[in-house]
Amino acid sequence: MTIERWSWLGEPLAADFANTVRRRGQEYEEQLEHPQHLVDWARHEGVELERPDAAQLERVRELRDAVFAILLAATSREPPPPGTERLVNAALAAVPLVPQLQGGEVVLTAPGDPPALDELLARVAASLLDLLGDPALAFCDAPSCGQFFLRHRRDQRWCGPACGTRARVARHARR
Ligand SMILES: [Zn+2]
Repeated sequence: MTIERWSWLGEPLAADFANTVRRRGQEYEEQLEHPQHLVDWARHEGVELERPDAAQLERVRELRDAVFAILLAATSREPPPPGTERLVNAALAAVPLVPQLQGGEVVLTAPGDPPALDELLARVAASLLDLLGDPALAFCDAPSCGQFFLRHRRDQRWCGPACGTRARVARHARR
């Protein structure tokens, strides 16, 4: 069940985080309705979380909405909406991540054993900073998608062939 729920994940962390809302037709549906949904999502990202309480889940959704809005603005080359950067900056400041060399790779470490949820949100925010500079970042505007992805080709408009097909069908239906 959880695998089916999160089958579309696999983009960079900040995109996967923004993609915790999903379109059904043209309306967005919340995929983080219950604390367990956040635990399941985190597990897909390789992070074990304790079950958050309602207030923590609310905070996560707020940051998710901010990340979504910032990514959406970036795909249309607009500045982030007012108030969104504050939430991202708070997540970054809560758990400073230190780049370290390990086996020839740069990895971000979180010294001092911070709470797992705070560390995850800081990593989401750090991933967002990376994504904002990535020319491959794109938004799939197809019905039942509305998600962020990285383009493999410059002219790629949909995240996958299924979305291209759905968008064409919807266009024909409107005519
Ligand atoms: Zn799509």
